[in-house]
Amino acid sequence: MITFAPLMLKRSFEEMGFTPGILKAIGELGFEMPMPVQENVIPLMLGEECDIIALAQTGTGKTAAFGLPLVQVTDTESDKTQSLILCPTRELCMQITSDLADYSKYMGKLRILAVYGGASIDNQIRALKKGVHIIVATPGRLIDLIGRGAAKLNHVSSVILDEADEMLNMGFLDSINEILEEIPGGRRTLLFSATMSNEIASIAKKYMHNPVEITIGTKNATAENVSHNYYLVNSRDKYKALKRLADSEPDIYGIIFCRTRKETQEIASMLIDDGYNADALHGDLSQAQRDTVMQKFRVRNLQLLVATDVAARGLDVDDLTHIINYNLPDDLEVYTHRSGRTGRAGKKGISVSLISPKDRSNISQIERKVKRPFKMMKIPSGSEICNKQLIHWAKKLEMVETEHKEIERYLPEIEERLAGLDKEELLRRVVSLQFDKFLDDYRYGGELLSPVPESDEGFRGKNKKGAGRRFEGEYKRLFINLGKTDGFFPEQLIELINSNTRGRKIPIGKIDLLKTFSFFEIESAHVAEVIEALNNARFNDRKVSVEIAQDRPEEHADGRDREKGKRKDKWSDRRKDKRSDRKEGKRKDRKQRVVTYPGLKHRR
Ligand code: AMP
Repeated sequence: MITFAPLMLKRSFEEMGFTPGILKAIGELGFEMPMPVQENVIPLMLGEECDIIALAQTGTGKTAAFGLPLVQVTDTESDKTQSLILCPTRELCMQITSDLADYSKYMGKLRILAVYGGASIDNQIRALKKGVHIIVATPGRLIDLIGRGAAKLNHVSSVILDEADEMLNMGFLDSINEILEEIPGGRRTLLFSATMSNEIASIAKKYMHNPVEITIGTKNATAENVSHNYYLVNSRDKYKALKRLADSEPDIYGIIFCRTRKETQEIASMLIDDGYNADALHGDLSQAQRDTVMQKFRVRNLQLLVATDVAARGLDVDDLTHIINYNLPDDLEVYTHRSGRTGRAGKKGISVSLISPKDRSNISQIERKVKRPFKMMKIPSGSEICNKQLIHWAKKLEMVETEHKEIERYLPEIEERLAGLDKEELLRRVVSLQFDKFLDDYRYGGELLSPVPESDEGFRGKNKKGAGRRFEGEYKRLFINLGKTDGFFPEQLIELINSNTRGRKIPIGKIDLLKTFSFFEIESAHVAEVIEALNNARFNDRKVSVEIAQDRPEEHADGRDREKGKRKDKWSDRRKDKRSDRKEGKRKDRKQRVVTYPGLKHRR
C-alpha cells in the first residue's frame, strides 16, 4: 500500500538536524533553504524508517534530498558498504559521487566509490577491497563486480534507485531485480523517478514496504517553469529556422535534439561551418570524444549541443536556456525528458519545437501529455534578429572594462588616425566591422523562409482542407545563374523581373539566394513568360539563365528520384560544388572563426 506524504512545515537545513560539518558544506554550496523535494524527503530519511517513492524531475534538488541524509547516517567507523545508489549512466554516477563528496567534505573518513562500465574494473575492485561506505553504480558493472565477489552488499541498509524510469528505459529491469535480491530484506529503499509507469509501480510493489509517495510538481508533467513554444516551418527551412532562433538569442545555451546520429552530425557540422559555437554528441563518437564534448558543454565552451536522446542521457547540466526539438520524438515520454532538462532549480526554461506541417497534429497530443499549453511563435525576421544582436552587442560595449593601463600607450596613435571621423561615423564603422557577415545574412535575406499557415487553427485535429495549399500548388521554383557574389539580391531579382516583363505585376514567392546561383518561386501561371523574358536578359553584362529547378532530393518524402536526368544531375553537381566551396571556405576561415561575436561566434 502506498501512503502519501503529509505536508511538511518549512524548515531550514539547521532545523532538520544536520551535523555542523554537513551544514558547513551546505553553506559552501550556497544552498540557503531546502528545495521542496528536500523538505519532504530529508525529514523522512533522518527520522522514520520508511521506504519512499519520489516523483521528481532532474533539477529539482533530488540528489541532495537523498545524498545529505545518506552521508549523515553513515557509520564511518565501520568498513562495510552501507548504502547503494543505482543510476542509469556513467555521467550521472560520477555526478552523484562528486555531489556526495561535496556534502561530506568535512567528514574525513567517509569513502564513496563510483562504479560504472567503460572504466578499469581492476581499479574498481582494488578500491572496493579497501572498504567503501557508499557505492554509486550503474547496474551492469555492479552485477559484474558482485559476480567477481568484489562488491559485497550484505550490510547495505539503504538503497536508492535514481532515475528509475531511465534505468527501465535502458533495459536494466533484470539487473535491478538481480541486485535487489542480493540486499538484505530489512533495508530502506528510495525510488526517484520523473514519471510513474506500470513497471515502476511493479518494482515498488515487489521490493518496497508501504512506501510514502511524494510528488514534486505534477505527476507525469514537465516542470512548471518551462514554456513550450513551437514554430511551424516547412521541412526544407528547418535549418534556416534553427539558425534564426539561435541568432535571435545571443545568450542561448541549449541542446538541439535530433532523431538519428546521422542527422545529429549533419546539423552540428552545418552549424560549425556556419560559425556557430556548436558540437555533436551521438553514439558514433568514441567514449573519449563524447566525454570531451560533454565537458566543453558543461563549462560553457559550447553554446549549442546537437545530440541524440540516447547520447544526451548522461549529461546533467543546469541553467540550460533552451531545449530545441529539431524533430518531435516519436515517444511522448521522450519529450517530457527533453523538456525537463531546462527550467531547473527554479529558473525559467524554454522548450522549442520545429514543427513541419505534417507533424502539427502531434501538438495537441503533447499538450495533453505535459498538461501545458503550446504557444505558436513566429520565426524572428531578419530585422528583429539584427536588432537583437546589435542591442546585445551595444549592452556589452556599455559594460566593457576600460581600466587596462596597457592600452593607454596605443591610444594616441589610434586617435590620430581616426581624428577625421565624427562619433556617428566611428560608431557606424565599428558596428559594420562587427556585423559585416551577420548583417549580410539578414539584410537581404530578411523574410526568406517559405510561408506556412500563420494561424494554428485547424492544426489541432480539425484538419481544414486546403490550409497552406496556395504555397504548395500555385508556385513553381526556378533556378537562376546569379547569386550574392554577383551583387544579386531580392531587390535586383524583382527589378530584373519587372523590367523584363514590361512592368506587369508578377507574384514572386520564396527567394533563396546562394553564392553563385539562386532559386526563386513564381506563380505557376507566369512561369513560361518569366523564363522566356529572363533568358533574353542580361545582368551587369552577364547573360541570364533561368530554368525550372529540380526539387531537392530530400524534399521527396519517400526519397525517390522522381526525374532522373539532366536537371537532377545539375542540382547534385551544384550541391557538390557548394559543399567543396564550403570545405574550402572552412579551411580558409578556420583561423578567423575564433573571432567571438556577441553571443554566438560567426564566421567572417
Ligand atoms: P539535482 O536535481 O540533484 O540535479 O539538483 C539540481 C541543482 O540544484 C544542482 O545544481 C544543485 O546543486 C542545486 N541545488 C540542490 N539543492 C539546492 C538548494 N537547497 N538550494 C539551491 N540549489 C540547490
